[in-house]
Amino acid sequence: MNAPVVIIGTGLAGYNVAREFRKLDSDTPLLLITADDGRSYSKPMLSTGFGKNKEADGLSMAEPGAMAEQLKAEVRTHTRISGIDPGHKRLWIGEEAVTYRDLILAWGAETIRVPVEGDAAELIFPINDLEDYARFRAAAAGKRRVLVLGAGLIGCEFANDLILGGYEIDLVAPCEHVMPTLLHPAAAAAVQAGLEGLGARFHLGPVLNRLQRTADGLEAHLSDGKVIPCDLVVSAIGLRPRVDLAAAAGLQINRGIMVDRHLKTSHANIYALGDCAEVDGLNLLYVMPLMTCARALAQTLAGNATAVSYGPMPVTVKTPVCPLVVSPPPRGTEGVWSVEGEGANIKALCRDASGRLLGYALTGSAVMEKLALNKELPPLLA
Ligand SMILES: Cc1cc2nc3c(=O)[nH]c(=O)nc-3n(C[C@H](O)[C@H](O)[C@H](O)COP(=O)(O)OP(=O)(O)OC[C@H]3O[C@@H](n4cnc5c(N)ncnc54)[C@H](O)[C@@H]3O)c2cc1C
Repeated sequence: MNAPVVIIGTGLAGYNVAREFRKLDSDTPLLLITADDGRSYSKPMLSTGFGKNKEADGLSMAEPGAMAEQLKAEVRTHTRISGIDPGHKRLWIGEEAVTYRDLILAWGAETIRVPVEGDAAELIFPINDLEDYARFRAAAAGKRRVLVLGAGLIGCEFANDLILGGYEIDLVAPCEHVMPTLLHPAAAAAVQAGLEGLGARFHLGPVLNRLQRTADGLEAHLSDGKVIPCDLVVSAIGLRPRVDLAAAAGLQINRGIMVDRHLKTSHANIYALGDCAEVDGLNLLYVMPLMTCARALAQTLAGNATAVSYGPMPVTVKTPVCPLVVSPPPRGTEGVWSVEGEGANIKALCRDASGRLLGYALTGSAVMEKLALNKELPPLLA
């Protein structure tokens, strides 16, 4: 039998490239291998699940068996690959060798963890997949007070969602304003004010040093001396592309697994996309780029070599208390920000010296201007 196209990972990147490939080629054997349970789900729904009162099972869209049938593929679940041998076009699952025609790495990013002192570290929950979400929901049942670590996009989304789900929120992060890498301070202030209006308490500047059990729950000891009572902790301090197995196999790595515009790694017949990939220098941990990559890569795998290009990629942040759309200026560009509006409704625009729009952050009613502004934005990968 011909060696299969092998996809590692059944997140949005893995399943979407499989789906796009099957539109073009219904015969080549296809094998998907995943460390998790292989259920198909939309990861962005994880940070709106409490407001909608959804259990993990309610967020699952298809079981792996149904996906296998739909994709005319084999889906191996709870199977972690342990090595790649590019010279022999095979990978390792422990002692078992699996040969491939082409190998697609879609194994995502892992949550960053920092050591915390105290006797309650197991009550710190990262939420980066459906199984994490199920664990957190089980632990949060009957509890009231959640401490959110991190004030990035995910931390703010969880804060808003958990409040909608009936929880009290304290948010701790070592930054001056929320979403510091994404947002102009005026837009960040609007989001923070919105969340504070719902009751969230922000502790910006310190980090969590120690988490201690008490008779009545937990105490979070911060580096500025503050002590916050809580029942459990959500960690949203960032993600790191999974690169170790790729590096061990000799693939070129920077922040992510480096691929060219054809999603090709530094080794023949090995491709990468999604959170683990750095595409022509860009490691974008969002859905829109990976969908664009999935379509291009499927063409290449079907014999029609296709380079990926990115248009503007604005991100809608799911903080319903303060609607927010953001398109940060592309890397290497320099511009000047102008800010209009006040309170919850901020329009922050970044333009270059010739007046060309480079990026924006829109909150509240200003979000309505996004479609018009998107037409002016430069592509991220022309
Ligand atoms: C809470 C949350 C909300 C988000 N909201 C948005 C949003 O609103 N809009 C947006 O654009 N983006 C959002 N994102 C980001 C977006 O969801 C991700 O960029 C995207 O889902 C990543 O998909 P992926 O397939 O690359 O990785 P993943 O979904 O992480 O999939 C990785 C897969 O690889 C498997 N795997 C890992 N290691 C191995 C191994 N050694 N062997 C076998 N299998 C392995 C895993 O089991 C998994 O199946 C959000 C992210 C989070 C966490």
